[in-house]
Amino acid sequence: MRSLPTIRAMGAAAVLGWTTLAAADGTGNTRAIGDGVYSFTLGEGNHSMFVIADEGVAVFETFSSRHAQAMLDTIRELTDKPVRYAFHSHNHWDHASGGQVFRDAGATTVMHALAAEWLAANPGRDSAPADLVWSGRRKTIDIGNITVELLYMGMNHGRGMTVFTVPERGAAYFADLVNPNRVMFSVVPDFNIGEWERTLTELLDLEFDVAVCSHNELPADEALDGCARAHVVQERQFIIDLRAAILAELEKGTPFMAVPAAVRLPQYASWAGYDQWLEMNTLRLMTDLWMGPFPWYPDDGADKSRTDGGDR
Ligand SMILES: [Zn+2]
Ligand SMILES: [Zn+2]
Repeated sequence: MRSLPTIRAMGAAAVLGWTTLAAADGTGNTRAIGDGVYSFTLGEGNHSMFVIADEGVAVFETFSSRHAQAMLDTIRELTDKPVRYAFHSHNHWDHASGGQVFRDAGATTVMHALAAEWLAANPGRDSAPADLVWSGRRKTIDIGNITVELLYMGMNHGRGMTVFTVPERGAAYFADLVNPNRVMFSVVPDFNIGEWERTLTELLDLEFDVAVCSHNELPADEALDGCARAHVVQERQFIIDLRAAILAELEKGTPFMAVPAAVRLPQYASWAGYDQWLEMNTLRLMTDLWMGPFPWYPDDGADKSRTDGGDR
């Protein structure tokens, strides 16, 4: 039996229900990380979460039809309750695809208006329009005895990036914003780095005992346990340390274009992507420091808060 110190006050029955199981096809892998809260991965670097409530199941992040189908198969091994909602975090194709699998299973797919607007203009090969498009800063959706809280925290990465919490279960889901044990992704695409840092600080104000992070480079068995507040702190610290290292090189007189090869952060040498991506991370952050922050958008999420669910 597993016991996780991050989970508070778990009932014995819930603890006994915790399980690790491989999906029927042997490719999926899921683990109970809280009371009816499960992480799910196909072992390909993408992690979803699902929560089983009394009146149905909530799914967080579908990724692709293949990933979604395997997750649905796994859910069906655990419960015959209907999947009520499949939540998309943001606009990018590598996250917002596969929703049709859950629509076909009777679920309502949900996405922020800013993400929906982008996907309508740039449909992916495996993406489907969301059934429920919300706008504003915050929305709650009740599923029987749980409430799912949807938070749009302003620009940080992509469009309409939504952070999810399930307060009754002490759970949260973070896509792309918190990536345990990994440097920033390659050229840090579509991140406003300063706004990302602000968001990470705000994530620390959220109440949660356990979270699932969409990309988690902890050892595979550990990654199935999800991520924690400490990983939010580490993600933010990496950005702070990289910026300081860049400024230190420039201060020393290292020529601008020689800085990426010169910057070293040995305290992160064990992180995934350190050898391949640190120079890319560095150059990306330098262009941001040199040109000004990008991408940048007016705060249109707040402007649309008059519509349903926006109760900033
Ligand atoms: Zn993304
Ligand atoms: Zn991602």
